[in-house]
This record gives sequence, structure tokens and C-alpha cells, in this order.
Amino acid sequence: MKDIESKENHKLNELNFNLFRELGLREPILSALKQQGFEKPTLIQEKTIPLALAGKDIMAGSATGSGKTLAFGAGIIQNAKRGNGIQALILTPTRELAEQVSNSLKLFSARQPLKVVAVYGGVSINPQIRELKRADVVVGTPGRILDHISKKTIRFDKLKTLVLDEADRMFDMGFVCDVEKIIKRCPEQRQTLLFSATLSSEINNLAKKHTTEAARIVTKAFVDPQKLTQVCYEISGGLKFSLLVHLLKHESAELGMVFCNTRRNTDLIAKNLKHSGIEAIAIHGGISQDKRNRAIKHFHAKKARVLVCTDVAARGLDIKGVSHVYNYDIPADSKQYIHRIGRTARAGEKGKAINILSTRDQEKFSRVIKYNSIAKAKTPYVERANVRSQANSRSY
Ligand code: AMP
Repeated sequence: MKDIESKENHKLNELNFNLFRELGLREPILSALKQQGFEKPTLIQEKTIPLALAGKDIMAGSATGSGKTLAFGAGIIQNAKRGNGIQALILTPTRELAEQVSNSLKLFSARQPLKVVAVYGGVSINPQIRELKRADVVVGTPGRILDHISKKTIRFDKLKTLVLDEADRMFDMGFVCDVEKIIKRCPEQRQTLLFSATLSSEINNLAKKHTTEAARIVTKAFVDPQKLTQVCYEISGGLKFSLLVHLLKHESAELGMVFCNTRRNTDLIAKNLKHSGIEAIAIHGGISQDKRNRAIKHFHAKKARVLVCTDVAARGLDIKGVSHVYNYDIPADSKQYIHRIGRTARAGEKGKAINILSTRDQEKFSRVIKYNSIAKAKTPYVERANVRSQANSRSY
């Protein structure tokens, strides 16, 4: 009986995996995906890969965590040839995302000799200059790409595909002028793929300007209520930190991300969590890139269970096994809220978003999101945690 069941399962797995082949993907990318344990394409992959392989321009509305890197990367990897110059450029708003996208592309192209290079600021430019000489695919942030353009250490005359990843964030972070300058350096005859979590009028205009007859693809809602639970706790301001400690100790979390709005609060919370016996690390824009990369690796490896971060530092990060997202400080707007909670419940996993609201936060939060749709959890009794720093003590 078990034998039959396992044969049936095997058959089903084969059928599912074959969907990648049916999208037009061939070896060696198929075997790289198998090695990654991917069973079937995600929705965004299903819709975009055949169009991307056919050379079409695409404008896609797709949340982080939806499998968008393979959606835009598959065609690039399948068509690129080693040693033919830079054939694809992927622009990302943050350094972390550049690092992450390039790592994913390296995994997807593990069975072919492609050279994928990540270039971003905050680290020495010289090793990048050496690597760029042999690059087939480049992933980078706008500022550093412009540095390379002005130094003449990057050439786009062989470029076939340009990807704008998280285009909405490029706007939010004020990178659009830089992006426009880079686009001017790319050949007019090219494929352009624009991916964005939200498709605002700004994004539509950007697409109109830089794409040709782009296929518009929007995948389902950002939050799958089957997978993501959202709750909020209401507590007096003086006990916010104590409640956070209580929840981190009592929720059976795999990995948790705690969002703060300022660098200062990020450091303070991480420091005080450590004093409360919780292994926490902090990332924010004021920490050197090397240290940030090390912190993320540490968290990835589950050596620290809690990452305290600002939005900028955490943008677009894909860390497997983030089961809980805590909003310690309230996000500025609903877009930011969506981005934050998108760190969990990824790739079919379950997740929980927890909002810790002081009386003062409640009104602000109701402006950010219709929070009557978020379950109010009964606030537990919490022991007042020992907070070592005087600064900002009110918000603890
Ligand atoms: P992304 O949206 O590209 O950041 O991907 C989110 C996560 O989903 C990454 O960890 C990917 O490795 C993973 N992923 C992408 N496509 C698939 C797939 N077809 N099956 C399973 N996991 C996937």
C-alpha cells in the first residue's frame, strides 16, 4: 500500500516539476532548480517565464517572496552565453537585495559556467572592477553602477536584458534619476522587465517610458490569510519592550524580525534584548556593509534567532524560516506595512505578524491600516523587563 502511495507521489512530483519544462526551461537550469528542491513554478513564474523567454517586455506586480527572481532570471540565464560581455543588468534598490538576487542567480545557473557579479556601494570598488571584466550578468544598485559608468569600468554595448527590481522602492528611495541615467546608457534594442510590489501611476509612467508593448502581469493579493496570521497587542507605552521580550520568549518562533523606525531604537532594542537573554542582532543603514552582510549570514544560519532592523536595511531580504515579524515601531504607511509583513509566510510557509501598540500608537496605526481587520490578542501579564539605557526609555 505504502509502495503504491509513494509511486503515486513520485509521479505527481514529476508532473509538477515538468511544469517548469513546459514553460520553456531546459537543462541545465532544470537540474539546478531540482537541486534547489523546487517542486513546481510559482504563479508569477508561470505567467512571466514564457513571455520573458520569447523576448517580450514585462511589467509585473509581484510581492517579494513570490519567486520573482527566478521569474525574471530564468530567461536571462537560459539565453546568456559565457564570455559574451554583460548581457543582463538587474538594478535593485538596496545592497542587500543586490547580494541576494545575485546569490539566487548563481544558484539557478549553478550547472552552467556563467559569471554573475554583484556591484554595490559601501565596499571597495577595485575587486568589482576586476570581476566586471569577466561578467556575463550584473546585479547592482544605481549609485555604484553609475560610479562604474563614470570610471568606464562597465560597458553595456552587449546588453540584451535590463531588469528593474522593486521599482516602487527605487522611487521611494529617490533613485529614479539615477535609474534614468543608467537606462540611457543601455542599448535601445533590449528587453526590459520591470518588477514592483505595487503598480502605482509612477510605475506605470516609468513602464510607458522605458518598455515596448509590455505585457502587464499582476499576481494575487500580497497577503494569503491562510498562511499569514496578523495580530495586535495593546499595552501601555512603558511596557512595550517587556511585552516584546515576553512574546519572543513564549511564542514558538523559528526566526523573528523586529522592525524599528530609527537606527537608534534598532540598536537600543537589540542591546536590551541581549541583556534580557535573547540572542539578537541589529542591522540598519549606519552599520557598515560588511557587518550587515555578516549579521544577515549569522541570522540565516540561525545563530541568532532575532534580527532587529530598520525598513531600509531589511528591504527585499529573503531569509528562509522567518516565522514572526514584530512591528515594534509602527510603520509609516500601509505600503511599508505590507513590505514588512512580506518577510514572513514566504514560499508557502506559515507566518505571523505581531503589532505591539501603545496607546499613542493606536491612532497612528489606524491611519496606516484598517486595523479592525487584524485580530486583537489578549495582552498577557508581563514582567517589567530591565532596560539598561535611559535614552528613549519612554517607548519601552
Ligand atoms: P523571491 O520572491 O525571488 O525572493 O523568492 C522567494 C523565495 O522563494 C526564495 O527563497 C526562492 O528560493 C523561493 N522560490 C522561488 N521559486 C520557487 C519555487 N518555484 N518553488 C519553491 N521555492 C521557490
